[in-house]
This record gives sequence, structure tokens and C-alpha cells, in this order.
Amino acid sequence: MSLNDLFTEIILDHYQHPHNHGLITNASYSSRGYNESCGDDIQVSVIVRDGVITDAKFSGVGCSISQASASIMTDLVKGKTIEEAKQLAVRFYDMVKGIEGDYGEEMGDSISMQGVSKFPVRVKCATLGWHTLEEAFAKGDNKE
Ligand code: ZN
Repeated sequence: MSLNDLFTEIILDHYQHPHNHGLITNASYSSRGYNESCGDDIQVSVIVRDGVITDAKFSGVGCSISQASASIMTDLVKGKTIEEAKQLAVRFYDMVKGIEGDYGEEMGDSISMQGVSKFPVRVKCATLGWHTLEEAFAKGDNKE
């Protein structure tokens, strides 16, 4: 099995069996994001306690890349601070845009998205979940 096949398997597995799928009703931060060029529509909700993301979920519809990326994203940000999650988002954007770098263990399963850089129209699919998470933080805390 080639590395590309392995990456395809990881993406398909997250697409067919998404992690953290659903909606957190009492979320600290939430937002909805669209990728019009593909029809992807994702809602991201997270709970933050003492600055740390304790839970993250996503729901919505879209292509395998957008859904798998959101599934991986929710896995990765749990246990991280908001700042760490934002830094990881930037690393992820760099990676799928094909910027050379040392993308190691911190990237988790999202390393499987590296090949997306060869398909510029799919970059928006891959980054939708992360952008939606950033938007949720930018909108501010839902709690008064
Ligand atoms: Zn898509």
C-alpha cells in the first residue's frame, strides 16, 4: 500500500465514520461555515473551560474532504487552548497550500490531507472546518 493509498484510507474512514459528529447545545463557541464552490455546509461547536477546549463537535453536509477534515479537526483541538488551536489551524493551512515544512505528529490524521495541495479547488473543502472554528472564536463566547 502506497502512502497515498494510506492517506486516502484515513480520509475515507473519517468520512464514513466521522468522529465527534453532532451539535453541542450549550456550546461556548459555535459557528456555521459554507463553501459555495463545493456545497459544503458545516456547523462547529466547542466547549471551553478555563481556556481549554474540553469538547468539540461538527455536523453538516459536504464532500468527503470537508467532512473528514472537520472530523480530524475536532479530534485534534480537544485538550488544546484556543491559542494552540488557532496555531494548529495556521499550520494546517500552510500544509494544504503546499508550503514546505516539517509537519509532524502534532498534525495527527490531518497529515493525510497533504495531497490536497495538488488540487487547489479542494483546499477550501479541507480548510472549511478550521475556518469555521476560527469564526466561532472570533464571534466570541456565547455565554454572557
Ligand atoms: Zn467540498
